[in-house]
Amino acid sequence: MSFVFAQVQAKDGLRYNSASWLDERRMTYMAIQAPEGTKDLLPDEAAFWAQFKRTAAEVFGRYGYAPIETPVFEQTELFVRGIGEATDVVSKEMFTAISGENLKKLLDGGTVKAKSRLSLRPEGTAGVVRAVVQHDLVPQGAAPVKLMYAGPMFRAERPQKGRQRQFNQVGIECLGAEEPTVDAEAIIMLMQFYEAVGIPHASMRLLVNSMGCDRCRPAYREKVLAYLHEHAEALCDTCLTRAETNPLRAFDCKNPDCAQVMEGAPKITDCLCDECRAHYQAVKELLEAAGVTYVEDPTLVRGLDYYTRTVFEVQVVDGLGSQNAIGGGGRYDKLAEEVGGRPTPGLGFALGYERCVLALQAAGVEFPQATRCEVFVACVDDSVRAEAFSLVQACRDAGLIGEMDHQHRSLKSQFKLADKLGAVVVAVLGPDELAAGQVKVRNMRTHQES
Ligand code: AMP
Repeated sequence: MSFVFAQVQAKDGLRYNSASWLDERRMTYMAIQAPEGTKDLLPDEAAFWAQFKRTAAEVFGRYGYAPIETPVFEQTELFVRGIGEATDVVSKEMFTAISGENLKKLLDGGTVKAKSRLSLRPEGTAGVVRAVVQHDLVPQGAAPVKLMYAGPMFRAERPQKGRQRQFNQVGIECLGAEEPTVDAEAIIMLMQFYEAVGIPHASMRLLVNSMGCDRCRPAYREKVLAYLHEHAEALCDTCLTRAETNPLRAFDCKNPDCAQVMEGAPKITDCLCDECRAHYQAVKELLEAAGVTYVEDPTLVRGLDYYTRTVFEVQVVDGLGSQNAIGGGGRYDKLAEEVGGRPTPGLGFALGYERCVLALQAAGVEFPQATRCEVFVACVDDSVRAEAFSLVQACRDAGLIGEMDHQHRSLKSQFKLADKLGAVVVAVLGPDELAAGQVKVRNMRTHQES
């Protein structure tokens, strides 16, 4: 069964002409390129991604986080309910996955069941929370569950530097506790992770805010809505349409006129209830006590609807243009209920691997080259190839990275290849060495032979 991916409107608005796609495919004989907005991770970078994930497992593991793997596609409904229908991510950026069988049904004018409407995950939190609820990972009264994930996310955004349609995230979710220590601990851990992968501390800025809760946010939302109505003539059409579903989205608008209007908008931090204010204050005090520098940004609302109370974002100060957020997250105390679970407070963050790579490059940090060869066995002539083959194998069995030439190159070319692979030593094997039961070893760094 094959899957077809279509970028669709939320819910069921399929806008996909499969017949013309098939015709195009038959007529296209050009070399096929990776799809727009995707990027191959070639060996050096793939090795760095593997190391990045190992560092995450190490740092987050010290805080008790354990790995979880969830599917890359989920029921579309999960994202609609969890992330929010009016968000950009859900309303226009989701890739919907349709099995060949269901595509045929739709093209024949039929419908597919709600549970067969699937979307590629645009972020990791909704899937992890769904898994926590489904497997009852936080039974009533239990200690919080701490989970981490790493993998690809999919958003049909207009590609640009630092913005891809498939990108990799590493993230954590902690469910089952609402105390501010959980928030502070996660933020401290996030900043430690960036340092562990080599992003210089001075090149980053940590923004924090509180989004309030069910008790204080509705009144704040009304204040912002009234403010948007007052300034309607200066706002873009998107802000005006979204004002009715989620007026706070206007804080995220990139239109400079809207941004100017929003500078004067009421600030959530002036409208928090006593509990939210105390929670926010406690998070800030814990960060200060841990020596973590932050900037309070009362306009930080983040792009997803599920956040309550603490939100935070880490930006790179220079070199990444408008796509400067390398990670962010917050508390989502109502999300488990939204997806059908019992009330379970939660907090999480996600960080973008590709943007971290850009941040490292902007800071001039050199990438470690993956070691591809420690011992290269060179053959003086073809008569010793079988023994050379066994010798390379013996090196590998002894735990070394061993390589040889497979294409009958001259000895000189074999040395060039060994050099290109970064070999530490070349073991030269010829009929004379074989007869004497020895090999000549050249150290490629010092050029000494023994
Ligand atoms: P978000 O889920 O939007 O909070 O994203 C968390 C992090 O993922 C961001 O801070 C970015 O580092 C990264 N990210 C989000 N969207 C993209 C994208 N389209 N391309 C590359 N990285 C992204």
